[in-house]
Amino acid sequence: MLIVQKFGGTSVGDSSRIKNVARRVVEQYRKGNQMVVVVSAMGDSTDDLIDLSRQITDNPSPREMDMLLSTGEQVSIALLAMAIKNLGVEAISLTGPQAGIKTDIYYSKARVTAVDNTRMRAEIAKGKILIVAGFQGLNEFGDITTLGRGGSDTTAVVLAAALQADLCEIFTDVDGVYTTDPRVVPEACKLDTITYDEMLELAHLGAAVLHPRAVECAKLYNIPLHVRSSFNNHPGTIVKEEIDMEKSMVITGVTYTKNVAKLGIFGVPDQPGIAYMVFKTLADNNISVDMIVQSSMRDGVNDISFTVAQDDLRKSLETIEEIIKVVGAQGYTHDADVAMVSVVGAGMNSNPGVAAMMFGALADTDINIDMISTSDIKISCIVKNSEAEQAVKTLHTKFALDSVGQN
Ligand code: ADP
Ligand code: ASP
Ligand code: MG
Repeated sequence: MLIVQKFGGTSVGDSSRIKNVARRVVEQYRKGNQMVVVVSAMGDSTDDLIDLSRQITDNPSPREMDMLLSTGEQVSIALLAMAIKNLGVEAISLTGPQAGIKTDIYYSKARVTAVDNTRMRAEIAKGKILIVAGFQGLNEFGDITTLGRGGSDTTAVVLAAALQADLCEIFTDVDGVYTTDPRVVPEACKLDTITYDEMLELAHLGAAVLHPRAVECAKLYNIPLHVRSSFNNHPGTIVKEEIDMEKSMVITGVTYTKNVAKLGIFGVPDQPGIAYMVFKTLADNNISVDMIVQSSMRDGVNDISFTVAQDDLRKSLETIEEIIKVVGAQGYTHDADVAMVSVVGAGMNSNPGVAAMMFGALADTDINIDMISTSDIKISCIVKNSEAEQAVKTLHTKFALDSVGQN
């Protein structure tokens, strides 16, 4: 079998953990498997590199930022390759570019566009274990790009697709995917299985356990993912197309993100084409907009509110400055002190009243809802930043998730 395994930052956090990963990988190799291992930067080293850049400038060049951040993974691949060789097995570390990972041009959130697997195939054929740096690739200018925070998961899935792997395992510091972040709600329960669509929503809406694009790619190529702990051998969570039986759970998970900011443009002329112009300009600047609310018209003008990732706030504000001049709006506001809390579940489709239950639970806890958005399988609310964790706990209990593990 060809197995792709990915180990996250905590799993390679120090030298003894790297040796532990080496042992796990070699164990699989000695069973006759071909092994491709993707690793993240050690511990918090990506955060440390970001801090370091902030000591130099608060507006670094995106190209240099990616050059800097990609070094974290380069440390861990070299150390893991050494640890594996120490166990008597041939291994070779490869950066993203050396592994043939090509991306688009957008620094800090590049998308993988192609993988040239020639080098990887050749090294595997020599009997070597491949250790590939997660979270990075090469753009058409020949420069290093990074795939967005948490992007090593995506590297793993992309390689599993490019090498037609038989198995893709994501090793992390929790036992699998839980009904909510187990570090925020200790009562959270591990799920045995979850569908791609539910996992995609959870990941997009803040569940850090998997990078959203990893899930997108796994769904596209129909690669089941096994999310499990690097510290034990417990079975984790399988992310796949369909779950085995009809689930009784209406809500599968609760999640939140603080990486959100709310923007408002007020006094926008009520004419056809204005919304197009506003959101086309944001899209042209590669800014993803999430919730959008347009208020009802008064005196021939509207207010439009929307949310963006907080990482995109600075760029969004610069873009809005331009937009309001062009469309003749009266002004704009922004609020970064917000969070988005969401409930996700394929079962909500056929169960009326989920939204009412969510709003009721938040009201009972005196949490005010600022904006709401829904899809077939999720409901999200914007609340005050300081109330996010409380909202998650309240909803987790309200939707009876505290007890799913006991079923
Ligand atoms: P890694 O470095 O292994 O990629 P991450 O920190 O990126 O690890 O992701 C794992 C973390 O995700 C967990 O430690 C946990 O706190 C957090 N998390 C958030 N939501 C969930 C969830 N629904 N299930 C499991 N973990 C979650
Ligand atoms: N090291 C990167 C990060 O911290 C990528 C990853 O861990 O997946 O975001
Ligand atoms: Mg991660």
